[in-house]
Amino acid sequence: MTTLVKELKQKKQAKQGMLENVMEQFNQVSNLVNLNPNIKKILSVTNNELIIHFPVRMDNGEVEIFKGYRVQHNNALGPYKGGLRYHPTIDIDAVKALAMWMTWKTSLAGLPYGGAKGGIQMDPTKYSNSELERITRRFTYALGDNIGPEHDIPAPDVNTDAQTMAWIADTYMSTKAPSERSRNQHVVTGKPIGSGGLEGRDRATGYGVYLTIKFWAELKSIKLKDKTFIVQGFGNVGYWAAHFLEKDGAKLVGVQDAFGTIVNNQGLSVENLLAYSKKNKGSIVGFPSSKNIEKEDFFGLNCDICIPAALGNQITEENALKIKAFLVAEGANGPTTVGAEKILLERGVTIIPDILCNSGGVTGSYFEWLQNRNGELWELNEIMGRINKKMREVFIKVLNVKESRKIDMRSAAYVLAIERLERTYTQRGVFP
Ligand code: GLU
Repeated sequence: MTTLVKELKQKKQAKQGMLENVMEQFNQVSNLVNLNPNIKKILSVTNNELIIHFPVRMDNGEVEIFKGYRVQHNNALGPYKGGLRYHPTIDIDAVKALAMWMTWKTSLAGLPYGGAKGGIQMDPTKYSNSELERITRRFTYALGDNIGPEHDIPAPDVNTDAQTMAWIADTYMSTKAPSERSRNQHVVTGKPIGSGGLEGRDRATGYGVYLTIKFWAELKSIKLKDKTFIVQGFGNVGYWAAHFLEKDGAKLVGVQDAFGTIVNNQGLSVENLLAYSKKNKGSIVGFPSSKNIEKEDFFGLNCDICIPAALGNQITEENALKIKAFLVAEGANGPTTVGAEKILLERGVTIIPDILCNSGGVTGSYFEWLQNRNGELWELNEIMGRINKKMREVFIKVLNVKESRKIDMRSAAYVLAIERLERTYTQRGVFP
């Protein structure tokens, strides 16, 4: 296979099937808990789907048309909540799937939020910073009142960050009457500190991933010291998860990002790798003392813990058999296909599911939202403590359901998420 054909195939895999995956996960657990068929009908569809084409002037004076999405899956538990992703694989089905996962995630985490997701179909590496600013601001303007601090609250996701959120907040607030502006700061979370952002929100997702690994290891009386791990994606989630694991003495032996795959069985220094990638246009490739390997060989690397922290549909039926790790911790949303999960479970591999594993991020977002809404400023230690407490509570709940029902962790997490939504619908009924 030529590299181009391989790349196209992988790109296709990364987006195809995410919707089928989330629907299959949902259907399986709906049957398991005998979910009321009417509530099942409601949760099977997305409430609102917005596709926006908008023009932006490029640095060279030409106008380019972009395709932006926002899908609001469900808001029975509170305002819609979920990230914005800038990536070529973004399309309506991918965003629908990701929005649904947000509904399950916020429900499981016990937050007063529903689920949404959005993004722009683009490769952000092809644009200058000022182009990215104009793209973001024009998209925010086009979204208009489809987002809002008490209605739908975006956050960072793949290829978006605190800077992106600052542009969104500023654009949204600028379109409001002067007396209203400051009351709208919590229209997005994940903002920079100083613009209403929360101390520690940058590390919240990766910290949560690390915590779930630690809780699981404690349960099994496994010491993290000297355990080896690999990370797919060295962005916000992958880096911070690796940072905390390394602090506990675990050893990073392989990393894959959009540019390549590097290994070193003696261990890769997480902090040095971050410093290197910052100087190297965000790429890990060429890191001193590391060896490049083929992309396909990543999941088969010898290690104890595997952390997919990039895109969906990465662990497939094709590579699940090669995985050597005893634990897969899903930093990404939907990284494991339903078929791959069956293979892993049969082989005795534990999977900490995305809606639990990466929920530290949206939990941090909730704290930021509260901070803005109440005009408060929280301190880092307090925030990390609160995230720790919340993650532990949810982890234990999932574990109890897993044990009592004798099911896997993902099914247990879904049981809790779906049952909370079912209770709400049963109490409230369906209007009119
Ligand atoms: N994009 C993150 C996620 O997938 C965070 C969402 C949020 O904080 O609203 O969970």
